[in-house]
Amino acid sequence: VSAPAGAALAVRNARLVTCDTGAGEGPLGVVEAGALLAVGGVITWVGRDRDLRLPHDAVELDAGLRAVLPGLVDPHTHLVFAGDRSGEFAARMRGQAYAAGGIATTVKATREASDAELSRLAEERLARFCGYGVTTVEAKTGYGLTTRDELRLLRVAAGLEGVVPTLMAAHVVPPEHREAPDAFVDLVCQEMIPAAEGAQFCDVWCEPEGAFSVAQSRRVLDAGRAAGFALKVHADQLSHGGGARLAAEVGAVSADHLEHATEADADALARAGTVAVLMPGASMMTGQPFAPARMLIERGVRVALSTDCNPGTSYSENLQLQVALGCVALRMTPEEALLAVTRQAAAAVGREDRCGSLRPGLAADAVILESRREVDLAYHYGVNLARTVIREGRVVVG
Ligand SMILES: [Zn+2]
Repeated sequence: VSAPAGAALAVRNARLVTCDTGAGEGPLGVVEAGALLAVGGVITWVGRDRDLRLPHDAVELDAGLRAVLPGLVDPHTHLVFAGDRSGEFAARMRGQAYAAGGIATTVKATREASDAELSRLAEERLARFCGYGVTTVEAKTGYGLTTRDELRLLRVAAGLEGVVPTLMAAHVVPPEHREAPDAFVDLVCQEMIPAAEGAQFCDVWCEPEGAFSVAQSRRVLDAGRAAGFALKVHADQLSHGGGARLAAEVGAVSADHLEHATEADADALARAGTVAVLMPGASMMTGQPFAPARMLIERGVRVALSTDCNPGTSYSENLQLQVALGCVALRMTPEEALLAVTRQAAAAVGREDRCGSLRPGLAADAVILESRREVDLAYHYGVNLARTVIREGRVVVG
């Protein structure tokens, strides 16, 4: 079934998990025996199937009482890269500790890859995301680290459907600037950020040992804001380095990682309305501590979940698995974990008014699960439960 562009699509006979509290039962806004109507790629109506008024030209999709969720949103990936670090993974599994240095391997391979090769690799990963029901993916640069290469990665990311592009030129200090890291920060602020056409966010890895100090990170974020970008921060991942406090101070849309965040950090994030993006897969794969999700939630921080898809610490496009890890490793409730890959994740990429819930006016992005119970995303873990994936009113998988 594939509706032509502009045509109406009706998803009928569904357990609609709207993720819009006002629209149905419970924290997930569930409508039993529900239906959804999309016209021209936008949701125009959500309600009980028996109340649906079907346009004469609508394509009908029978969900068979299965759970239908908003298209999932991954708010943090390093999608565009070349090369392979499976050897580094294997070495780590033999006992070596994770350090930020491995990024240089990916930087080298990425610089050597052509635009066409980078696009092909990113498209393959994006197709795998889509297969898991993920219809919106944030994608960072950060493996180019020269003006030319960062802008190249940004163009690749911005050219992909469903991608939110982020400039993360301040990922690590590249080898050629190791002796003078502040000169590299100058380059990021004065040359790369002002030229980053098409980016929606500016991001920085605030990690005093291995990436950027609080002072350097603040310079990057100030330059990003001056250029008109919304802000993100990789914060308190390997140590309590001050990233979360900085994210709150500059009014960042999200603070990501937060494995070492404290209660005072959480209070600052809650006051600033900064969304916490947590990546239990990265903790699992590197043997690092898990982020304090319960503490963050209990202190009023909105929590989103992400794959952190990247070649070093978490090479996976399976956002469904993060829902399971959110529950069992971060002690989130199934409802919190589901909202963390839908509504909260949309908030973490500044798109709550476009995706992340099923309500009129938003893009008709949805996923029909194999199951009639959305909790199976956590319970029946490690397998792909996406049966049909709909993007902007068109069936793209299934
Ligand atoms: Zn990251």
